[in-house]
Order: sequence, then C-alpha cells, then structure tokens
Amino acid sequence: MSETRHNWTKQEILDIYNKPFMELLYEAATVHRKHHDPNVVQVSTLLSVKTGGCSEDCGYCPQAARYHTNIEGNDLMSVQQVKAQALRAKEGGSSRVCMGAAWRNVKDGEEFDQVLEMVRTINKLDMEVCCTLGMLTENQAKRLAEAGLYAYNHNLDSSEEYYKEVISTRGYQDRLDTIDNVRKTNVTVCSGGIIGMGETLEDRAGMLVALSTLNPQPESTPINALVAVEGTPLEDQKPISIWEMVRMVATTRIIMPETQVRLSAGRTQMTREGQAMCFFAGANSIFAGDKLLTTPNPDVNEDMEMFAVLGLEPQKPFTKKVQPQTVEAKDSQFESLGEKPKWTRPDHKIERNEAAKAKALK
Ligand code: SF4
Repeated sequence: MSETRHNWTKQEILDIYNKPFMELLYEAATVHRKHHDPNVVQVSTLLSVKTGGCSEDCGYCPQAARYHTNIEGNDLMSVQQVKAQALRAKEGGSSRVCMGAAWRNVKDGEEFDQVLEMVRTINKLDMEVCCTLGMLTENQAKRLAEAGLYAYNHNLDSSEEYYKEVISTRGYQDRLDTIDNVRKTNVTVCSGGIIGMGETLEDRAGMLVALSTLNPQPESTPINALVAVEGTPLEDQKPISIWEMVRMVATTRIIMPETQVRLSAGRTQMTREGQAMCFFAGANSIFAGDKLLTTPNPDVNEDMEMFAVLGLEPQKPFTKKVQPQTVEAKDSQFESLGEKPKWTRPDHKIERNEAAKAKALK
C-alpha cells in the first residue's frame, strides 16, 4: 500500500489531471481498489437545519441574503424535526446526516446549544453526524466533539487565488484555521470544493494542493459541480462537462488515496453512466435526498435503483472510524465561553457580486 503524500505540487497534480483519459481512469481505479472496497459507497443525507438569510457573499450561494434567489428562509429547526428527518434518512439507506446552517460562524448561545442537542440525538440513532455551520473556535469544536459529532464540513471551495474572486466577506486562512480547530478534536474533517465557477485548471490544482498537503488529509472531500442559481452572481456559468468531473474525481482519488471522495452538488446534471464513471474513478460517497440544502438532487429511490444496477452497497455507519461517545449537556466538561472571535472580513470588491446585490435591491 503506497504512503499518502503531503507534498504534492500544482504541476504534479496538473500532470495527473491532464493524462490521457483511459490512463487516468485506470490509475485512479487501481489506487481506489488498494484503499477501499470499490462496491461500497457511503450515503449521506444533507439537512438544511437553518436556511437562508446568510450575511456572507459567496458568489455561488442562493442562501446569501444579499442576492435575490426566491429561497424560502427558515429559522433553526427543532430537535424533534431533525430527529424525524434523520430517521427517514436512515430508512432510506443513509449512514450519515449532515446538518447545514447558513451562518457565517458558530455563535455561542441557545441556537448552538440546540445544535449540540441535535448532534446528541442523531448519534444516539447510531448514525454518523456531520455539521456544516461556518467558522468555529477550538472550544466550539470541542463541544461538538463531546456531543458525539463524527465529522465537520468546511469547504475550501477553490484555490486561494480564485477564492478572492468568489467571496469577499472572509479569508482563505479563516477556512484553514477552522479546519485546524476541528483537528484539535477527534472529529473527522470533510473539506472539498466546487468546480465550474469560472476557475482555471490551475485553480483546481491549487485547491487540491491545499487539501492534499493538509496533514492528515481530510477524511472526506466533496467535489461539487456548480449549480448555477438564478439571482446569484454565478447564474450565467455554463455547466461543466462530465469529463471534467471525472478527471477531478480521479485526480483527487490518486493524490488523496484514503479520503472518501464525495459526489455532491450537480449530480442531477449527470447521467447514470456519468456517475458510474465517477465511481470507477474513485468516488465513494454521495449525498442522498431530493434537495442539497436548496439545490435539486436525485431522489433516494433513483439512487437506490442506480445502486442496484451497478451492484453497489451503501456503506455501514462507523466503518472507517468508531462511533464517538455522547456526553450529555449536564455532564459537559466545556462551557459556553461567549467568544466573539475576529474572523477576517477582507471586503474587497467583486464586481459580479456587487452587480447581483444591486440587481436584488431594484
Ligand atoms: S455558502 Fe454558506 S456562508 Fe456562503 S452564503 Fe451560503 S450559507 Fe452563507
């Protein structure tokens, strides 16, 4: 079994990405088979526990309050609502529930306490629990870990250079610092990005340098294809081709051999044959459910039909890592510190973000 490398360069990654297609596919499939069961795919359900009204300006995101996207915002769901949805996801074959809240960062207080209770509740259902709540401090990461969190998602989105063309309200280093805070606990890291936002191949490779040189590498890496939503600054971006998606998946698989590579947003634009190629190239995780936060996704039955056609099996929970213990709130070693960290706000001008904001105000 080859050692995982943490010193990949942009040029090496580009050389892999640009290999003749069949060679790339063969090499990726070979790495995949050495490190994973190629017939097992992890299934996660993404649940938007708090939707819309976000203060950030991520150019791809319909949940940013400043753009006009017809998204129906929702306050934080109740623990009971989340439990009911988690049970449905479990019945549908999901081993993991990922709860997303449209927040810039986690704030200590009642809402975070409620999220901690959601984590405890889902972990007790013997499902892996993941959260994506924005930036977070070390103490907040420890509190989530103590509640029984299995994974924390925080995407790098793109290369450091292109990130500045998409988001102005926080810096790349904030992302890395949050991942670092998660790494101070036993919670696994889920971090990836989006392709099709107008970035160059160098940017794709740059993002993969940033992810693969983390030590340890993320346990899970979502590769999203942009879903261009009307009203967002990226509404006019053309969808990427399946060949680009397969190349990105295969390259990620080769340089991050142990990571679960996740097909995320954009799966509705792919045929089954296209998805099968992605699985062959090393993708071994998908999001299930008819919505990915706010954008469309294939429904569970369609996915299970595809699994039957391809002879794939959903991965059992806690296959890769043991189930964390849940500590009840009353027995917690950590308290709410009421922290107000100064995450950066570069606030440089991104013309298309400004234009989308101005259009929404009309
Ligand atoms: S991606 Fe997250 S942080 Fe960015 S605008 Fe959307 S909800 Fe807010």
